[in-house]
Amino acid sequence: MSNSFKSVLIIADIEGSSGCWGRRAAKSMTEEWYVASVEMTRDVSAVVTGLLETGVRKVTVHDFHRTGYNLLPEYIDSRARVLSGYRHGPVPGIGDPDDAEAALFLGMHAASGSNAFLSHTFTSRIQQLEVNGEAMSEVELFSASLAPYGVRPIFFSGCPVACTQAQRAIKGINCYPIDKTVGQQRFDVDAWRAGLKSAAIKSLNNVGMEPHLPTGPFKAVVTMRDGEKPAQKIARRWGFDCKGASISLDALDFNELYRDLIRLCYLTPLTEKIVPLALLWYRLYGYFGLAMVRRHTKRLRQ
Ligand SMILES: [Zn+2]
Repeated sequence: MSNSFKSVLIIADIEGSSGCWGRRAAKSMTEEWYVASVEMTRDVSAVVTGLLETGVRKVTVHDFHRTGYNLLPEYIDSRARVLSGYRHGPVPGIGDPDDAEAALFLGMHAASGSNAFLSHTFTSRIQQLEVNGEAMSEVELFSASLAPYGVRPIFFSGCPVACTQAQRAIKGINCYPIDKTVGQQRFDVDAWRAGLKSAAIKSLNNVGMEPHLPTGPFKAVVTMRDGEKPAQKIARRWGFDCKGASISLDALDFNELYRDLIRLCYLTPLTEKIVPLALLWYRLYGYFGLAMVRRHTKRLRQ
């Protein structure tokens, strides 16, 4: 087996992981979420172990759902670094990708506006997000944010629709779907997870991938689920154009597009000035949440 990549990143989300079977499981502090966090940890752990066994020397895992505190690092091989919570920059959320050569995306979901399991882009407040006329999913945005550092997107796992979108946007990315239409009772989690592990290992052969950086200019149209009023409030705040519930953004390059989408989804001009402080608060909240997961489940301790 090839071990062509020595240092890789894992971006881990929960919606497309094996223990998330409904909206409540993706919300913090629900019984379903406690279970989903444990199963997400098991999924990530299987992949981490597989990569290390295959000769990858450095695996860095970014917990990328909600507060960024879902994974229980103590159940993942301690040679991997599990980073909970988000970093301010240089890559939004990720920080410094350091010497990472490739990225694997686990537990992902389809873009806002898709008819798929818990589909959204950034937030479920967005009903539809189109860039130059096409739905844009998070894997494309995250991959592009890593492209200036030479990180190549090699692997993706999520629902079948999410996989199709990933393959359409990023030609050549290896995909491993999770089909939840069979229902939780009939889903064979052990077989699926073993398949995830071997597909992730196989993607280390995907050496032909290049960093994914879509070129501008971009015209994005973001339609807000709650209608005209909230859309106009956000648009006014940042000086974006707005028609009905749709906000439009013009960006010359990807950096500008990503910055504006993050502003639109998460920030106000005031909070943008105190992002590190806000992230700290978010981190405390996330840390508390993880303590609840630990209290509610001892299922991994066998
Ligand atoms: Zn998520």
